[in-house]
Amino acid sequence: MVRPSNHNAQMVGDYKLERTLGKGSFAKVKQAVHTKTGERVAIKIISTKDANQHALRRIKTEISVLRMIGHPNVIQLKEVFASESRIFLVMELVSGGELLDRLALDRVFPVDVARKYMIQLLSAIDHCHKKGICHRDIKPENILLDEHGNAKVSDFGLSALYEQGFRATVLATACGSPHYVAPEVVSRGKYDGRAADIWSMGVLLFVMLTGTVPFSAQNIKALFTKIKGGSFVIPDHVPADARSLIERLIVVNPADRATMEEVAAHPFLQGKLGVLQPTAPIVPEI
Ligand code: ATP
Repeated sequence: MVRPSNHNAQMVGDYKLERTLGKGSFAKVKQAVHTKTGERVAIKIISTKDANQHALRRIKTEISVLRMIGHPNVIQLKEVFASESRIFLVMELVSGGELLDRLALDRVFPVDVARKYMIQLLSAIDHCHKKGICHRDIKPENILLDEHGNAKVSDFGLSALYEQGFRATVLATACGSPHYVAPEVVSRGKYDGRAADIWSMGVLLFVMLTGTVPFSAQNIKALFTKIKGGSFVIPDHVPADARSLIERLIVVNPADRATMEEVAAHPFLQGKLGVLQPTAPIVPEI
């Protein structure tokens, strides 16, 4: 691993740190500029002294998964540095903020905007699934927007290879925003993370078109009961093709839920899934 420069607290390798872009539960994300090329990036900084085992596992997962993915709608990992006390993930910088903030401002997206985000995000998730990776934490906080309004999936800290069951991890950490969690994740036993991602995409489409979540309750136990029951009402203004896709995504039994192939062929997406070609894998081993 390359070590960051110790001469100046504001330098990380060849990057000069600038303003703070955001703070996660165990990381700080800063804007930075490459002193030679002038390229601006986002650097996620994790203090290995402060982070617990769970946080360190998340960051290791995020690094190894992002190294496997090269897709225009997934935040690109460019480099990783480490010092004795910190890990630095140098990532592509996006300037449009979180999809959550966009939703808070607009409340409901026009159908064409929701369709565009669905096509981009499903294309990214499909690419991940084909690499054997499930995101497992799809929600508007984890989707960033670039300056052109393109969606980029971020935060792969909870992702996993889909052969494995990781219910405990998901439940332990999804409590901040559990509205997107699939019923089989809430229930006991192993599950296929691909189908769980597809459920979350259904919830996201519902939210983008209606401004509300399909399942809500006073407390988490009641919420999970509602999610497992799977009853929700789609407002009348949602167009028929979007309604029909939501009804194929938010399906309690994962075996009956639409697969990615069925989703790709759905009329709401107008055959456009797969238009965005993945780029080559990007980060070499360091
Ligand atoms: P969480 O606790 O929510 O899982 P985290 O510690 O994994 O968070 P991130 O969610 O990845 O951290 O990042 C925190 C915030 O930093 C994001 O919500 C976003 O506002 C900002 N951010 C992260 N990556 C980028 C990026 N590549 N470009 C611009 N801003 C970013």
